[in-house]
Amino acid sequence: MLGASREVGRSCFIVNTDKKIMLDCGLKIHNKEAPHQYPLPPPLGVDAVVLSHAHLDHVGFLPSVFDHYNPAVYATPPTRDIAELLLLDSAKIILEDTGVLPYKRSSHAKAMKAFSLRSYNEIISLGDTSIKLMDAGHVPGSSGVLVEEGGKRLLYSGDFKLSDTQMHNAAQVEKDVDLLIIESTYASRDHPNRLDLESQLVQRAREIVVDGGNLLLPAFAVGRTQELLSIMQRHAPEIPVWVDGMGVEASKIVSGYPAYVRDVRKFRQYFAGCKTVKDMRERKKVLSTPSVIISTAGMLQGGPAMQYLLSLNEQSEIIFTGYCVEGTNGHNLLNFGYVEKDGERIVPSVPVKYLDFSAHAGRSELFDYVKRANPKKVVCVHGDNCEGFAEELKLEGFDASAPVAGDKVEV
Ligand SMILES: [Zn+2]
Ligand SMILES: [Zn+2]
Repeated sequence: MLGASREVGRSCFIVNTDKKIMLDCGLKIHNKEAPHQYPLPPPLGVDAVVLSHAHLDHVGFLPSVFDHYNPAVYATPPTRDIAELLLLDSAKIILEDTGVLPYKRSSHAKAMKAFSLRSYNEIISLGDTSIKLMDAGHVPGSSGVLVEEGGKRLLYSGDFKLSDTQMHNAAQVEKDVDLLIIESTYASRDHPNRLDLESQLVQRAREIVVDGGNLLLPAFAVGRTQELLSIMQRHAPEIPVWVDGMGVEASKIVSGYPAYVRDVRKFRQYFAGCKTVKDMRERKKVLSTPSVIISTAGMLQGGPAMQYLLSLNEQSEIIFTGYCVEGTNGHNLLNFGYVEKDGERIVPSVPVKYLDFSAHAGRSELFDYVKRANPKKVVCVHGDNCEGFAEELKLEGFDASAPVAGDKVEV
């Protein structure tokens, strides 16, 4: 375990078969003690990297591997394209925050060249080891990973959702595995009913637009932006929707991959029905008429969303639809009513709400996944209370644990 052990962020694991296979290589960002944290270094080299999906907590530290090694990187095509987009942006942010890149500049290009693209359920053979990516229902291209060698089977859930959303079908689950490494993000609670949430969001959008305001939805570029624009266009095509920030580029990428969304024809139609913001000047125009604005950053750590927030009229509202890490502007606004800009505290005058449109499995889905995978051993990662989840699984008869970074698990 090199990261994501009793924490959310810096997902990274090494599987030792006849090969040394790295599963994910992520960053921990927006962290209180240090702005960026990285996984532990791989102790014995890396023969191959397998990426579950393109979120930075799973791919953000990938270039560092290429400072020392030159492995192939296996991932789905959307994961590669989105990773390229996010890695460039993340390098910029790290440089701004810390003044140094935690990997060689040339390693980024090396990493991008090392990708070997694979579809869901295609078998990847490496020596005696075989690997398979399976739909995880989390974001476009997201995968669970099955690793098999010598009759032993390891399943890494990646981040997943076990119920359908506008964009994705539920995750595929492999049965009867020897070891399951499972995310635990929402082990302590279930999400509200999805359809109820969709109608609440659309209802509120209608009211705000009728009143002459803008509904601002800060959103991650990958996954959430596409889900929100689909919900709005599906239920209320008459409401103008603007998409701004990196979500525009991510949506274009997603439009090109029919095999990785539920209904690409519909998504293309929904995206074409939105207006995209091209430059700074256009942002003023966006705010001059009532609309819904979907914009990065999802936690209000910079991005156009922050600019909109500070210019909204009194009829407007802001709704967060995803998790905001402690210490971020999103968290501060939701809990204490302020944001920070250039070291100054600002108290926005518009109402702030939260609707839980999570792309992760809720508590019941996590337990359901474990039961379906029926593992001999289960390791809980990627959560604030991995230990608690492991304890509960033990009560259900599973051999469960929540190791810390640096621990080894024998299969
Ligand atoms: Zn994710
Ligand atoms: Zn994650």
